[in-house]
Amino acid sequence: MTKEEVFNLLKEISYPGFSRDIVSFGILKDIIINDKDILVELDIRSAENKIVVDIINSVEEKLKVNYRDYKITINNVAPPPGAPTKAPHEQGVNYLPHVKYKIAVASGKGGVGKSTVAVNLAVALAKLGHSVGLLDADIYGPSIPLMLGVTSRPGFDRKQLIPIEKYGVKLMSLGFLMEGNEAVIWRGALVTKAIQQLMQDVKWGNLDYMIFDMPPGTGDAQLTLSQSIKLDGAVIVSTPQDVALIDAIKGVKMFKKVDVPILGIVENMSYFLCPHCNERTDIFSSGGAKRECEKMGETLLGEIPIDTAIRIGGDKGKPVTSEMFDSPISKAFMEIAQNIDDKLK
Ligand code: ADP
Repeated sequence: MTKEEVFNLLKEISYPGFSRDIVSFGILKDIIINDKDILVELDIRSAENKIVVDIINSVEEKLKVNYRDYKITINNVAPPPGAPTKAPHEQGVNYLPHVKYKIAVASGKGGVGKSTVAVNLAVALAKLGHSVGLLDADIYGPSIPLMLGVTSRPGFDRKQLIPIEKYGVKLMSLGFLMEGNEAVIWRGALVTKAIQQLMQDVKWGNLDYMIFDMPPGTGDAQLTLSQSIKLDGAVIVSTPQDVALIDAIKGVKMFKKVDVPILGIVENMSYFLCPHCNERTDIFSSGGAKRECEKMGETLLGEIPIDTAIRIGGDKGKPVTSEMFDSPISKAFMEIAQNIDDKLK
């Protein structure tokens, strides 16, 4: 029996709640074989004790079935929860050393307005006086250039790409790197590599904020990407309906799993404000995100109404936060930006 055999067996075990195996999750630290002893060292840093126990049991079971005559020992070498740990950006490579805060805008599912929030949040932060970058990492439809009215492609300075600047925001998009929809079939590792390139090989300069428009969902691509960016925080976008909120909760759990602090939830398409009489109608029974936030102990960063001006602004490449600065919608986005800035400081 060899180390490689044990390694391959462990690769058959999925991380609880994910299709990805525990080895590619990076929790296997060592396999030590000594005569009839097998020692497996794991580094499971979950705040949920059940996850730690489940993984250890699965590893033990798998090895016992395959190596009946061996003594099997499994050690979790991770520091206990609560022990001081390094901040995420200190655990590995920081691809953006000149960016103060790296923030993911994410959603459990598509179509909830994640990109709309990412764009308007970036513009709002710029309006607050910050230097801001926006990295469109949505493999399923990099729509940010359209939403900012960018039709040109980035140029080069020596070997580095120059981000395109619009509404005070520096923009790069995965869409600039790919033809058609090819990235949709990319796997986690490929997406991560492309994003790393967009962090490293772009002349971003010094920035206060980098906003990442993440691919929707909580699958392997999203998880790998979240781990690799060394994020300082995540903003989850949801609509008020239960189905969307269930996915938003999954998003919260995913970021927590990789130790990314949750800055809060934005409820989008929260209510309809009649343009004639200013009456508020809660089309999708608003308040769902507030309830879930209270349950989870998370912050509701703000509520954005449903308004055709937002869709038209997106389609025309004129974000409401810039084009309708005095409107209540714009104020809602400014408040979210301020809340995030306050939280990080
Ligand atoms: P996602 O990134 O979650 O897939 P988008 O930001 O692309 O979602 O939004 C999907 C569509 O909904 C776009 O046409 C966008 O303009 C529109 N939209 C988003 N938020 C609102 C809103 N609050 N009111 C009206 N339309 C909205």
